[in-house]
Amino acid sequence: MDITLLLGAPGSGKGTAAARLEKKCGFVVVSSGDLLRDAVARQTPDGVEAQSYMERGALVPDAIIGHMIGELLRAGDSGTQYLLDGYPRTVKQLEMLEDVLAHCGGTLKAAVLIEVNDELVIERIAGRRVCPRCNAVYHAVTLRPQREGICDHCGTALVQRADDTVATVLQRLEVYRRQTGGVIEACEARKMLHRVDGNGEVDIIVERILQSLA
Ligand code: ADP
Repeated sequence: MDITLLLGAPGSGKGTAAARLEKKCGFVVVSSGDLLRDAVARQTPDGVEAQSYMERGALVPDAIIGHMIGELLRAGDSGTQYLLDGYPRTVKQLEMLEDVLAHCGGTLKAAVLIEVNDELVIERIAGRRVCPRCNAVYHAVTLRPQREGICDHCGTALVQRADDTVATVLQRLEVYRRQTGGVIEACEARKMLHRVDGNGEVDIIVERILQSLA
């Protein structure tokens, strides 16, 4: 089992890039945000606990998300190439991931950091629309579905995420700088960090990611 991490601020385009990479290169994408939103929607005990953290733009406790990701990877196939979107977001989560990999013989191969400026993040998040059924991501101006308000993949009505307000985004950016900075430093120290310019069209960004991993 090989793991590639996709790091970047909220709204940096990790989810959109991950979906393209899944189609193009056969990665299995695991999105911590999608796992948590699913747990909230199902009101599982973890989901009930996670909900209030997510609504205010704070990180969910390491134990909750670390356990969810650990379970998923432990149950996974040993030959799978995983792309983790949104995990790890703290140094503790990175350590938890390394523990799981040590147990199941997996390797942390690389980390890609998608870099964008804050203005772009706010614009992207304010216009972001998501499919509550299949998690496809759109933008009201720059990445519109074929039929207004309807998911191209499954025909479900698109929604705006509860935490995609400007106030919550500012909070999430602050949390990102304070808590995820350490993960970036740790990946840099392990000489596995690839920095990619996240400005521009999705296809171009995906190309940059692939080139950085080649
Ligand atoms: P974004 O990258 O736009 O912030 P995500 O879908 O990755 O969106 O995350 C949404 C929310 O889910 C976060 O603000 C946080 O509350 C929670 N979350 C996601 N991943 C993690 C994680 N690895 N650790 C803690 N909380 C997380």
